Amino acid sequence: MEKLNLVLSKEKILQKIKELAEKIDKDFNNESLVFIGTLKGAFIFLSDLLRYIKNPNIQIDFVRVKSYGMSDTSSENVILTKDIEIPLEGKNVIIVEDIVDTGLTLKYLYEYIKKFNPKNLKICALIDKKERKKFNIPIDYVGFEIEKGFLVGYGLDFAEKYRHLPEIYEVIKDE
Ligand code: 5GP
Repeated sequence: MEKLNLVLSKEKILQKIKELAEKIDKDFNNESLVFIGTLKGAFIFLSDLLRYIKNPNIQIDFVRVKSYGMSDTSSENVILTKDIEIPLEGKNVIIVEDIVDTGLTLKYLYEYIKKFNPKNLKICALIDKKERKKFNIPIDYVGFEIEKGFLVGYGLDFAEKYRHLPEIYEVIKDE
């Protein structure tokens, strides 16, 4: 069994999410806005973020992008396994991502959504991992910058475990 070390408490996460929601509300000022959550990892982050958004003109959708493998390393292979259902042409769109590591998934998604000609395309990520960035896509709304480690909880999994945890932990693997 792996061990878990606490990295971000519930309180810290929710405080940061409140701040992100305030910034988004300020930037879009009741203009219509589509939030696209990336499954499965961002499902808890998106639902908490939305509860602090005051803008009444929002729509919500989900996309699922998979990079191959169940391991803790990102692969070069990205596929879309659930598409967006809301038309995005001429809309303000925010991609809501749980964690950005190499940036490959985000680059793929950003380029995919751009093809629908949104009016505005922004990115919101709860965690930006600085350690392994290969593809540099600017993130407009960042929750936390974390240097290293494999994180679980608050939507993030390790082989599908730990998504339900209300805090974020680093996985410490047995030698
Ligand atoms: P990237 O394409 O940026 O290398 O990786 C992004 C995806 O890899 C995330 O959406 C997430 O699914 C997974 N990932 C990257 N780092 C971590 C991590 O520390 N913990 C977990 N649970 N998933 C991660």
